[in-house]
Amino acid sequence: MKPDAHSVYTRRLVLQGAVAGAAGLCLTSSHLNGLALSTVAERKTKRVVLVAFAGGVRTKETFGKPDNVPNLMRISERGVLYTRARSANLGHYGAALSIFTGIAEQRGIRENSRGNDPTVFELVRKELGLAGNDVWITTAGGAQQVNYSHSVHPDYGARFGATTLDGDGVFNREFRALLERYGRPREWSQSEKDALTQVRLTRGTAEMTGANAADAKALRLARNLVTLFKPKLTAVVLQEADMAHGNYGGYVEVVRRNDAAIGELWTAIQADPELAATTALVVVPEFGRDRDLNSRRGLDHGDGSDDLNYVTCLCAGPDFQRGLVVKDEVGVVDVAPTVCDLLGAKGRGGRKLPQLYS
Ligand SMILES: [Zn+2]
Repeated sequence: MKPDAHSVYTRRLVLQGAVAGAAGLCLTSSHLNGLALSTVAERKTKRVVLVAFAGGVRTKETFGKPDNVPNLMRISERGVLYTRARSANLGHYGAALSIFTGIAEQRGIRENSRGNDPTVFELVRKELGLAGNDVWITTAGGAQQVNYSHSVHPDYGARFGATTLDGDGVFNREFRALLERYGRPREWSQSEKDALTQVRLTRGTAEMTGANAADAKALRLARNLVTLFKPKLTAVVLQEADMAHGNYGGYVEVVRRNDAAIGELWTAIQADPELAATTALVVVPEFGRDRDLNSRRGLDHGDGSDDLNYVTCLCAGPDFQRGLVVKDEVGVVDVAPTVCDLLGAKGRGGRKLPQLYS
């Protein structure tokens, strides 16, 4: 069933319930429960992990060369590949932010400032009443990256933002406040300290080295978060592929290592029956890179080529078609409305990725 058909169907059921009530028809609570269960049962997805494979990553080095990305290839068999996803192409920050806002033209956006349009984090937290520990973002670091967690929109903003962890697992102030307010996950004893939480979250990150170390830490943190907290929405922002400006070989190495780390994240999700049955993964770069090497034998991003403007978006999860490749043009900005829809939120509307659902 297509997503639009699903939401129409849901609305119709709600409407029927209202009409039946108004007409004085007797609907017992078991009828109503049956209705509610039947609609909820149609969508298995309860959690989304959204990886912004940012830093500028061409399809040529990913799905165009399967040897580089054996894990993404493996994951794509469990989902849908959009091979012609048009990027917003506004520079790294604006383009990556568009993954989270669903808006290509970020009005008044400056590098190093928060956006004016609410992010998917704010949209789902406000509409669905999600707590801060349900919505997370881990980043590879960098001053701009804290700005992805929320906008400055007066109706949204920090109180609906994602809880942020940088690559070294340093909690922001909001997270410390959150721990105090909500306590630790239920199964942990009260005597456990915040320090233990940090140790668990950062487990395995300290020894990470190599070309993609910051990206690998962000992905490992996400993996630990997803398995410890089972959040509704977990986002990861990568960045190290951008070494391609001056080092093509290093860039390919980052792609290969990030593929391995995303594979570990996916494997951890599949190893937990509850997560496997309820978690969707979306992986999308913010834009690609130029068609031709620059004078340093690196790859910039600014030539307006299809290699730059179109990226491949991977979606895998329990509700999706399997092994489908969609070659029709979609937008990177379609990801945010799709994530809202997956979590049962209307968000701000907008086009969702087509042909996704089985
Ligand atoms: Zn760059």
